[in-house]
Amino acid sequence: MMDVRALFDRRGLRCTRQRERIYRALAATTSHPTAEELHRVVQRTGARISIATVYNTLEAFTRRGLARRFSPMPGDASAGVERGGAAGLGACRYDADTSEHAHFVGDDGRIRDVPGDLDRRLMAELPRDLIDEIERRMGVQVERVSVKLVGRQTGRGSAC
Ligand SMILES: [Zn+2]
Repeated sequence: MMDVRALFDRRGLRCTRQRERIYRALAATTSHPTAEELHRVVQRTGARISIATVYNTLEAFTRRGLARRFSPMPGDASAGVERGGAAGLGACRYDADTSEHAHFVGDDGRIRDVPGDLDRRLMAELPRDLIDEIERRMGVQVERVSVKLVGRQTGRGSAC
C-alpha cells in the first residue's frame, strides 16, 4: 500500500485523514476527474468531506506537486455544468500522475492517458533537429515537451 504520509511529508504537506482519502481516490483513477467527480467517489467510500474541502485539497496537491491540474478547454462540454465550486476553477481536471505523459482530450472535455508504449514512441520520435532549430531560432532552451492530443471519440479501437 502506498505510503501517503511519507509522500506528503516529502512535499511538506500535513497529512490529515481527509487529505489522505482524497489523494488515494485521485491516485486510484486514471480518469482525470473534476473536483466534483472526485467528491462523489470519496463520498461513496462513506467519507463526509465537503466539496469545498475537495477543491482546497486539490489546489494544495497542485501547489505541492502532488497533482497536475488541467484547465477546461474552450468548448469543453463539462465546463458550464460545474460552476458551483471555488470561483474561477470551472471544471478543472486533476491527475495524481505528475510524470510527463501524453494526454488525449476529447470533445466532451474528458482526458485520457495515451497508452505508455505509444506515449514513449511519440516522445522518442520527436525530431531532435527540429527542437534544435526551435531553440536556435527562438533563442530558448526546451526543457521538456508536453503533448496534448485533441479530438473526438470514434468508438473504434480497443479500450487501451
Ligand atoms: Zn494523465
